Amino acid sequence: MDDYFDIAIIGLGCAGSHIAIELLKQNPDIKLVVIDNAPSILHKKWSFWEKGIGKWDHMILKKWNHGVFKTDQGSIELDLYPYVYKTINSVDFIAFAKAELQQSNHSTFINATVTNVDEKNEEIKIINHTNGTIHTKLILDSRIDDQFFKDQKAITLQQHFKGWTIETVDDHFTPDCFTMMDYSLRDSDTTSFTYILPYNSRKALVEFTYFSTELVEDNIYDDYLKRYIDEHLKIKDYKIVEIEKGIIPMTTYNFDRHHSQHIYKIGTAGGWVKPSTGYSFKMTEKKAATLVHNYLNGLPLLTDLFTKRFSIYDSSMLSVLRDFNDDGPTFFHRLYDNNDIQKLFKFLDEETSLAEEISIMQSMTSLRMIKAFFKSLS
Ligand SMILES: Cc1cc2nc3c(=O)[nH]c(=O)nc-3n(C[C@H](O)[C@H](O)[C@H](O)COP(=O)(O)OP(=O)(O)OC[C@H]3O[C@@H](n4cnc5c(N)ncnc54)[C@H](O)[C@@H]3O)c2cc1C
Repeated sequence: MDDYFDIAIIGLGCAGSHIAIELLKQNPDIKLVVIDNAPSILHKKWSFWEKGIGKWDHMILKKWNHGVFKTDQGSIELDLYPYVYKTINSVDFIAFAKAELQQSNHSTFINATVTNVDEKNEEIKIINHTNGTIHTKLILDSRIDDQFFKDQKAITLQQHFKGWTIETVDDHFTPDCFTMMDYSLRDSDTTSFTYILPYNSRKALVEFTYFSTELVEDNIYDDYLKRYIDEHLKIKDYKIVEIEKGIIPMTTYNFDRHHSQHIYKIGTAGGWVKPSTGYSFKMTEKKAATLVHNYLNGLPLLTDLFTKRFSIYDSSMLSVLRDFNDDGPTFFHRLYDNNDIQKLFKFLDEETSLAEEISIMQSMTSLRMIKAFFKSLS
């Protein structure tokens, strides 16, 4: 195989994998190269909702038909049908994408760090990496531009969290019911909550999460996790078998400015993470399919990737959460209490009609929300 390709993807993470899988499915003869430098031990649990049977069911770790949302004002049962909440291991998904690449006659994976991209040549771009050089017509790049981290104008919150997978001696968890958000223990005056994925009655991921502008020291998550397990789950005897930590940007930053004619940013770097939730797996699957369709049909690559009105809803939600971070539990309680979960999932998947969106907005309406909405339009 020579080193000239139709497309080079930098990063075989969530976005790079989705695009590679979709491209190879739609056009097995494409000359595709994916370059990534990640060690293969970075396990993340990727959760998402979808209706019924899905494409990734063969690698699912666990699925749930029920959920619960809790605040001091009460507990809301979420009967998800026809949706199912599912979790996969990122390592399995990336391994699947890598296997697809390796099976292809014209495509390949390179384990290296991209050090430089030479854009000067109109037709062919050159990528330098730690193991050599490749030439390509188009680059899809998962590297986040440094400007994002320096930006002061966009509304940016961090979804930051630490989770312990614990095993208990006795039965403590309801295996078919996950906890979307439990605000009954929170860091004062912040939007912070516990998220629980029970794998069986004696094993669960318990995660303490913030939606906030500032990060916290590691021991703060540990203190809340200990307290939650002790005081709320009433579990005394457990062992921690796995730890996960993460920071996911929730932002209105305009990533579009970092595309150029033959180099497009994808994934987090392209603004593919849903700003108001931090979820990205399913959104990325959808955007990857649209991008591949555009490429194969000779359309501008970003056609139909974003919908303006959903960007406005995301901005207004982020604006409320940033300006009134103490109010998060009330805001989310209103959202879950006044709308069925099917409508919320449809809304977060950006599949609702304008009438449904208006009814969701009305259900949350407070003076703060209205102010934030009009601020996000300006
Ligand atoms: C612990 C954790 C749990 C999460 N849980 C969920 C969840 O439940 N649901 C959900 O939807 N999202 C979840 N997320 C968020 C999700 O992982 C991200 O939104 C998603 O991975 C972003 O996709 P991406 O392709 O932009 O970046 P990534 O998946 O991070 O992939 C980027 C890739 O680019 C590679 N790379 C970067 N620079 C270079 C370079 N110079 N050369 C070569 N390669 C390079 C990196 O090694 C990496 O593999 C979680 C995140 C974490 C950290």
